[in-house]
Amino acid sequence: MAYLSLKGINKIYPNGFHAVHDFNLDIEKGEFIVFVGSSGCGKSTTLRMIAGLENITKGELFINGQLANEKGPREREVAMVFQSYALYPQMTVYDNLAFGLTLQGVDEDVIEQKVKNVARILGLTDYLDRMPRALSGGQRQRVAVGRAIIRKVGVFLMDEPLSNLDAKQRVTMRAEIAQIHRETGATTIYVTHDQVEAMTLADRIVIMKEGRIQQIGTPYELYFKPVNLFVAGFIGEPPMNFIRTTVRGGCIEIAGKKLDISCKLGDKVAAYENKDVYFGFRPENIVLGNRENAYVLDAHVELTEMLGDNTNVYVNLAKDNAILKVTPYETPDMDTQITFSIPVENAYLFDAETEFVI
Ligand code: ADP
Repeated sequence: MAYLSLKGINKIYPNGFHAVHDFNLDIEKGEFIVFVGSSGCGKSTTLRMIAGLENITKGELFINGQLANEKGPREREVAMVFQSYALYPQMTVYDNLAFGLTLQGVDEDVIEQKVKNVARILGLTDYLDRMPRALSGGQRQRVAVGRAIIRKVGVFLMDEPLSNLDAKQRVTMRAEIAQIHRETGATTIYVTHDQVEAMTLADRIVIMKEGRIQQIGTPYELYFKPVNLFVAGFIGEPPMNFIRTTVRGGCIEIAGKKLDISCKLGDKVAAYENKDVYFGFRPENIVLGNRENAYVLDAHVELTEMLGDNTNVYVNLAKDNAILKVTPYETPDMDTQITFSIPVENAYLFDAETEFVI
């Protein structure tokens, strides 16, 4: 059995709101799992049910092979890092780190050794005598992480741990969290609404919408093989372009160009005759000019945004708009006509009714 197993988990709050629907997931020991999705999709609720801070309305939670639904938070062998850090302001860094072990009655010598070891891993050795108010946001965050990892629990739960940091500190702490995970090998579940954090940290991502899992997969799978319109639009920045159109004679028409989609859909194309589909392509997966084995489109350049490492080009395709990502050297002039190619393998088609990928 997997180390952590969620079977048909549901959460209905006392006011009747159904926040999590039939959540199924098996997590192996040592995995780094990220729950991602927009605010309010049920990520924290699911994490809190695993932590034992919220009861499970229906379904079963197994931790290390044992049914944990009725166990209290302390009996579950989990440690949680909160958004707010929840440090004790009147205690030094050393005492904040030591607190949980002191409560458990662990020997002073053992505590000292563990505190020093965690401080070393987290680069806090020089700050052990400081009070939390004399630390930067990033350092406080490290103490909060340290307090959780010092207990050597089975599962490490993190709820948006970087959201109180500025953009630069977030990038640094993100790399540190990855490094801590490599060093400790602790099974981790990490909640974020930030797709970049999800993509960079996760072994596997669970992407949620309105209380339901949309897809579970590696960052690679979510980026290259999204199962539906939501996942395709969520991962990637700028997001994937979607153009709604109707299939006629095995082709779709965009800005006066007929595109043969039978080569992409094979036998399935007949079933979509006269039906609406979304044609999708990522801004970064295009080539300027006219290429072979590609869908070639003409567009009008409305606006360009030079970002340094690349340029976002906002184009108009008759009825539709799209964003293209090109290198700065290729930046086209505004208010000109361009031709670009979408390699057939980089184009996606979605059923407009079900929103599933075809
Ligand atoms: P996320 O972490 O993805 O932002 P949450 O799990 O916090 O989302 O919340 C999921 C949904 O459940 C939201 O619509 C939220 O308003 C609702 N919710 C959270 N806590 C409660 C509660 N105690 N009672 C009723 N609804 C709640």
